[in-house]
Amino acid sequence: MRPLILIVEDEPGIADTLQYALRTEGFEPAWCASAEAALAALAQRAPALVILDVGLPDMSGFELFKRLRAQIDVPVVFLTARGDEIDRVVGLELGADDYVPKPFSPRELVARVRSVLRRSTKTAAPAPAEPVPDKVFEVDDGKRQIRFYGRVLELSRYEFGLLRTLVRRPGHVYTRDALLELVWDGSSESLDRTVDAHVKTLRAKLKAVAPTLEPIRTHRGVGYALAEDLPPALPA
Ligand code: CA
Repeated sequence: MRPLILIVEDEPGIADTLQYALRTEGFEPAWCASAEAALAALAQRAPALVILDVGLPDMSGFELFKRLRAQIDVPVVFLTARGDEIDRVVGLELGADDYVPKPFSPRELVARVRSVLRRSTKTAAPAPAEPVPDKVFEVDDGKRQIRFYGRVLELSRYEFGLLRTLVRRPGHVYTRDALLELVWDGSSESLDRTVDAHVKTLRAKLKAVAPTLEPIRTHRGVGYALAEDLPPALPA
């Protein structure tokens, strides 16, 4: 079955272009021109992903986003007005999966949709019992929050993505390329040193909680992995 992509956008021209591009790429698009219509559609059938315009006639896209997330945990890509930094920041802070500024190329948007879906099916895959750190790391995807030995870590978007990825599979060594793909979407402006820089800041935050532990291990020439031998309780 083709993945259902719900487009919430009040400009018919944009919605048409999007639907065409999505259909061509093997998706099943559905279009709603208002927030109210979108909420009704959501109640009918859960989409695989929602493309959400920030500027809707009857409700702000952000408000709709909150309502929608209260109903189902579905990935959301925001469409924002060009260069609107505030929209971008608010969207990501709220926990949107991506944002695309207008005007956009339909191809690029479809590529983002694909990438968000790939990422979210990966994280949504039933976790084969996270063996380690049971209570060492507690991830709250809804709040985009990770606790480390009970302490909430103040994480940036990418630090969260990075740690979340590592925590899912303790001991698994991720290459920098794999992390760029998983956390940064393989975006072209990201470099290997982007990963290293974020590992560094992440380590500092973990160290602030557990000064004697090294939860993120470096595998020289390969990449990074989460330690499998973390003590169940914070060492005194
Ligand atoms: Ca609009």
